[in-house]
Amino acid sequence: MSGEAPRVAAARVLDAVLHHGRSLKAELARALPALADPRDRALVEAICFAALRQHARADAALAAWMPKPPGRRDGDLRALLHAGFAQLDPLGLPPHAAVAETVDAARGIGRAHQAKLVNALLRRAQREGLPTPAAADAWPGWLRERVRADWPDDADAIFEASARPAGTWLRVNRRRSGRDDYLARLQAAGIEATPDPVLADALRLPASIAVGALPGFADGDVSVQDGAAQAVADALDPPAGARVLDACAAPGGKSAHLLERDPTLRLLALDVDPLRLARVRGTWRRLGVGEGVDPGAAARVADAADPEAWWDGDPFDAILVDAPCSATGIVRRQPDVLLHRRAADVEALVALQARLLDAAWTMLRPGGVLVYVTCSILRAENHAQVEAFLARTADAVAEPLPGCFGRAPAAGEARHGRQRLPGDGGMDGFFLARLAKRAD
Ligand code: SAM
Repeated sequence: MSGEAPRVAAARVLDAVLHHGRSLKAELARALPALADPRDRALVEAICFAALRQHARADAALAAWMPKPPGRRDGDLRALLHAGFAQLDPLGLPPHAAVAETVDAARGIGRAHQAKLVNALLRRAQREGLPTPAAADAWPGWLRERVRADWPDDADAIFEASARPAGTWLRVNRRRSGRDDYLARLQAAGIEATPDPVLADALRLPASIAVGALPGFADGDVSVQDGAAQAVADALDPPAGARVLDACAAPGGKSAHLLERDPTLRLLALDVDPLRLARVRGTWRRLGVGEGVDPGAAARVADAADPEAWWDGDPFDAILVDAPCSATGIVRRQPDVLLHRRAADVEALVALQARLLDAAWTMLRPGGVLVYVTCSILRAENHAQVEAFLARTADAVAEPLPGCFGRAPAAGEARHGRQRLPGDGGMDGFFLARLAKRAD
């Protein structure tokens, strides 16, 4: 295996994400299939995640060590340097190989004339180490201030937790095996895991793992899903045979979990984005649930905020609104959120979430339950969103959720919803509220 190709690939992915507004997930999905060796693919992923988590740190080094650090026009060079730094720290690859292969990659990206510069900067990083700015510096100023205003006592812990790699959570497919049986299979494969005491299907792994190494992954025996996301099925907890709407379903993790637990659900999964809805179908197929297997389940492309365009008027017993959001609770999994998010996005998202809630409510039967979820930590999308909904919706009542779903709002705030901050219980930052429609 030559070490140049993965470094070239990592530099290209980072260039696209850092300088051209592209999403990390999409760029990795495009770049990885071109690498035949799974070790190369794992290396590219590791470099990209590590480099994006510490992009402020790498920029501080370049600013300190270069009279004129590379800007947007030299984006590929800057990206390669970020990739080189990440290999030394935090990835701790053998320095000789990391430096030599990254210098070779400078030639691979058409920067042969700057190979010496790359070598000198990486050697300096190896000798002196990178500066260590506060974790908060990775956040754009406006967002940092919002987090500080929303979570004055927790903001620094949020920034720290968001800079650390996330652990791996598994969800065992109940239709295939019990959790204990799957745990035994993991142990037989030499993979350490711990059952979560609260989440019935969850296993927690101390280290990250390639899905291909998980026994039975391709056959649908198990999924990778954070504990906070697994808790959503417990919060909705639809009765057997219930008619359920998953209003924002792609890529399909939560609807699949609901169906794994109960094949009798009459579940309709919607997503407005056809490509993303195709992923729901793919997820369901792998797991052996949904269309073609469960007569009551269907997936379709539709705008959940516009029921008139598609709804047949038959009300739902339970609705999940897992709303599009700022994703500020999952920065540890999607570090590029900090590069791409703009203040205006949050306003637009808050307005869209409100429209989705209002539309979903019209489709809920009296006595039914709606669970509203985001992977945001911003109050405007969470507590304040639900508070505004309750204020304008006479027949809506917030139902209490127990402490295992996260933190209760601070004293003096409206008492609804539970918030998990990033790293709480080893999980992602998530917000959950359970809203019941009065039957009288
Ligand atoms: N529930 C999903 C899961 O567990 O895999 C994750 C949902 S993700 C947070 C939000 C989804 O909402 C995106 O796939 C997005 O395409 C979809 N979405 C955004 N606006 C929508 C709308 N108006 N109607 C339906 N889906 C929408």
